[in-house]
Amino acid sequence: MYDPLVHSFPDQKQSGPDSYWLKVNTKAPEDDGAVTGDIDVDVAIIGGGYTGLSAALALGRDHGIKATVLEARSSAWGCSGRNGSFARISGGRVPWSTLVKTYGADIARAYFGELRQGLDTVRALIASGEFECDKQPDGVYKVATFANHAAALRREEELYNTVLGYPARYVDAGRLGGIHEGPESHGALYLPDGFSLDPLKLAQGIHRMARSHGARIHTNSPVIGWKTAGDTHHLSTPAGTVRAKRVIVATNGYTSSQLHARLAARILPVHSQIIVTAPMTQAQVEASLPSGNCMFDTRGLLFYYRRLPDNRMLFGGRSAISGADASAPRHRQYLYDAMTRKFPALAGIDVDHWWGGWVAVTRNSLPFCYRVPGLGEVFTAGGYAGSGVSFSVHLGTKLAMMAAGLPFETGATFLTREPDRYPFASFIRFGQWMAYRWLNAKDAREARRAG
Ligand SMILES: Cc1cc2nc3c(=O)[nH]c(=O)nc-3n(C[C@H](O)[C@H](O)[C@H](O)COP(=O)(O)OP(=O)(O)OC[C@H]3O[C@@H](n4cnc5c(N)ncnc54)[C@H](O)[C@@H]3O)c2cc1C
Repeated sequence: MYDPLVHSFPDQKQSGPDSYWLKVNTKAPEDDGAVTGDIDVDVAIIGGGYTGLSAALALGRDHGIKATVLEARSSAWGCSGRNGSFARISGGRVPWSTLVKTYGADIARAYFGELRQGLDTVRALIASGEFECDKQPDGVYKVATFANHAAALRREEELYNTVLGYPARYVDAGRLGGIHEGPESHGALYLPDGFSLDPLKLAQGIHRMARSHGARIHTNSPVIGWKTAGDTHHLSTPAGTVRAKRVIVATNGYTSSQLHARLAARILPVHSQIIVTAPMTQAQVEASLPSGNCMFDTRGLLFYYRRLPDNRMLFGGRSAISGADASAPRHRQYLYDAMTRKFPALAGIDVDHWWGGWVAVTRNSLPFCYRVPGLGEVFTAGGYAGSGVSFSVHLGTKLAMMAAGLPFETGATFLTREPDRYPFASFIRFGQWMAYRWLNAKDAREARRAG
């Protein structure tokens, strides 16, 4: 499988995902085909996921600029067409208590405000009626895997209520019946905003809207070389060069370390994978996940899951480290075992789909959206750490603003800084492997203690 730390771009040899979303969305939107010949464009956008497509839409709709998207494979081929489908008030992977301690309450509140706007950006797109993406009712549960995790959820409730001014509420284990069943239901934090949807339909909707506002979307057009002469960037694709003064880099977790030296080692591509089961029987639904809300648990290496409208279980988490290893059957089994431990009623159920993709994690585990120093008019956003469905769409609109010459002013000051490089980039995977071992051992210790 394509591995951003190994390959120089997602080439034609890399297979697409065996994703449930591709199975239920057979009609891809029209696009502008591959780049053929050399062209001059106003704004070139590298990467056709939510970040790039949203930037293209906002450039056309809000700033009157016709953007040109260069996507290596098909539109939303990366995370945006293959994710777990939760649009939440989230981005990055830093607990709120740590964020408040590190940056202070004002910056944490400003960041929370940006994330809320992110969800509103997606809500507004859906409300425009321009496309349909099977949005489900709001409601997200963070479920205590072990009884001793409940106290931390109560503290988190307090922080949401008092510091962030947000009405999260703790739900006792006794009141989870009929919502979340099984032996790992020890109370939950309920967040009233956040919903699931069909993520590929969302991306395709933004794609169509962007084209209707004048964007050109070139698929099968990987950027395989990047030279800068004066203030003009020359982006080579296999069949032509695209010249632009303004470039938006929206390759996020799929960014090859060879795309541009200035961008290298600023994110760690982390593999996340999902299984989707065969449809559950009514008895299995009632004994596992009667609710259709978004769920995730409190393990160190957490699992996220939801019941799909056709009663299949979607269950995701992290296990593989490298692309070469990601298709080893033990990773699929790892998810299956975790799912049946959580929901014993699902033991023996078939798995109809299994796929994975690369999320981007920065050194501070927070997203970014900035003008790249030293490169003229180059802008980039990403680093959502597996929580980017709504925030990537939102930061796409901010990239468009910046490319149009307007400032992105935010109280969440860390967002607009260039992320630090990972030191010893070639050893980061070993560090990740150690971290996974430690987190898995910690989870296993807690499971033993809980009996
Ligand atoms: C399995 C999985 C589950 C997830 N679940 C959730 C979830 O439930 N909720 C949530 O909020 N987030 C989730 N995420 C994360 C979320 O999907 C991403 O944060 C979001 O889609 C990022 O969008 P993006 O446009 O920045 O990047 P992507 O959608 O990854 O787009 C990057 C694009 O760049 C292209 N590209 C790369 N290199 C080049 C090049 N050289 N030339 C041209 N194009 C190039 C790639 O082909 C790719 O299409 C999940 C991710 C995965 C993998």
